[in-house]
Amino acid sequence: MSSLPYQGRHYAGRHRQSRRARLPRAFSSSFVLPTTAAAALVVTATGATMAESAPAPLTLDLSGQQTALARTEQVADDAMVTDLAQRRQASSMQTAALQGRVEAQQRAARDAKRKAAAAAAARAKAAREGKRWVKPIRTGTRTSGFGWRWGKTHDGLDVGAPTGTPLYAMSRGTVISAGFVSSFGGKVEIRYWDGTVSWYAHMSKISVSEGQSVMPGDRVGSVGNTGNSFGSHLHIEIHPTGGDNPVNPYPWLQKKGILVG
Ligand SMILES: [Zn+2]
Repeated sequence: MSSLPYQGRHYAGRHRQSRRARLPRAFSSSFVLPTTAAAALVVTATGATMAESAPAPLTLDLSGQQTALARTEQVADDAMVTDLAQRRQASSMQTAALQGRVEAQQRAARDAKRKAAAAAAARAKAAREGKRWVKPIRTGTRTSGFGWRWGKTHDGLDVGAPTGTPLYAMSRGTVISAGFVSSFGGKVEIRYWDGTVSWYAHMSKISVSEGQSVMPGDRVGSVGNTGNSFGSHLHIEIHPTGGDNPVNPYPWLQKKGILVG
């Protein structure tokens, strides 16, 4: 009765024919049963009707072992299909992840490019508008700071430098005062675009006049030792709101990146 389970598979499972066709030739021939045995098996398996018609040994040899093989193949196929599906899924997930990373990188690159372009545009605009800041003097030594000194407040920063050392406008602005004042000696006041007013004092030479527009780095005169001065130096004061309210030039210059000395 070992062939009973096969019956259903054999007749109902014609879709498996292509699989049977792939069986090795040697397998079929070596398992051909004698006709009588075959006939008996057919009767057992399929009933009288089948036995009366000519039973075919080729049908009979598709019995126990072959069924088992077919099942094994089926199981193996199923496993392979499952494995393939899993691999495809894993592969597509990896592809998606990779694509995501590539897109993120592309986005980051685009953002960086956009930011760089915006920064460059801002710098170009600032340069066009003269809004950059430059050092008032290129070389020198800070000799005296802002604060209490010799019984009174020192409202500026002193930078020692040889007489004749060039002095420059720190940014775009207008000269609001230029001339010789008793204690300050040669003095130039510039109001910049942001409202800040700078005072340069003890100058030996003044090369701008009141009302003149200046751009960053424009020459305004030279270092000197005029007025109440003990040695050639630049006395620089910073008045952020334009009134006579000086602040310590050191942090102000430092913040602008134009600290001298
Ligand atoms: Zn001073």
